[in-house]
Amino acid sequence: MQTSLPLDSAAHQTASPKTSRGSLEPVLSLSNVTLEYPDGEDKTLLALDNVSMAAHAGTVTSLVGPSGSGKSSLLAVAATLLAPTAGTLTINGVETTALNDRARTQLRLGTTGIVFQQPNLLGSLTALEQLVLTGMLQGRSRKGLQRESLDLLAAVGMADASHRRPHQLSGGQRQRVNIARALVGNPQLLLVDEPTAALDHDRSAAVMSMLCELTREFNAATILVTHDTEFLDLTDATLHMRDGKLTAAS
Ligand code: ADP
Ligand code: MG
Repeated sequence: MQTSLPLDSAAHQTASPKTSRGSLEPVLSLSNVTLEYPDGEDKTLLALDNVSMAAHAGTVTSLVGPSGSGKSSLLAVAATLLAPTAGTLTINGVETTALNDRARTQLRLGTTGIVFQQPNLLGSLTALEQLVLTGMLQGRSRKGLQRESLDLLAAVGMADASHRRPHQLSGGQRQRVNIARALVGNPQLLLVDEPTAALDHDRSAAVMSMLCELTREFNAATILVTHDTEFLDLTDATLHMRDGKLTAAS
């Protein structure tokens, strides 16, 4: 189901929750978020311009827009990797802009899975080890992570490849491991940046439907940046971005 919204609600679009972790509160909300990058001596580039949106558990929100419109910047802010210049970012009811770096990192590790556009897997580690390491970085012991990691690899159809290293995997397989890795620790918020950019049509379709299924299975709030408008109907709502602003569907 794809929701299209009238122009006057474009600044506050949300996917309605199909399921919930027991609360109707959004997992993520951005309120009047502005992000400026330094751009030459006294100049700044306005990458996000008064953006407000929310994401709920168990829903996929797709984010589309031309190259340079601010999609990756929005994900970087949602991931607390970049602090907004103005506005507020709330995750699980916690206003992140008030936190110090350490508290923000802890919040990210405990709540957020990130799938970057390029599967930045570590070359020397097997698929299984990539996931176990991620869990250990979350402060968990190796015990339990092995089972969880194998289950996640199975969930993305990679059970038989758990002992392969990245160079022994195809592009599509690497992206599946990348997605499984982001799901370690059952994140409430899943941020995914153009996961199918390097994949052919059939593999793109498989990855997109897998992400939507996993979102429901794991009850995550997922934001999915994509060029693949063909697959938008799989998602619960679509946000359109242009020049750093959320706009109505065009
Ligand atoms: P998209 O993901 O939609 O292609 P981005 O969020 O990457 O867009 O970029 C939005 C704007 O911010 C673009 O004009 C881009 O050139 C600029 N930009 C992105 N990252 C930086 C950066 N680190 N420093 C300065 N400008 C940046
Ligand atoms: Mg981008």
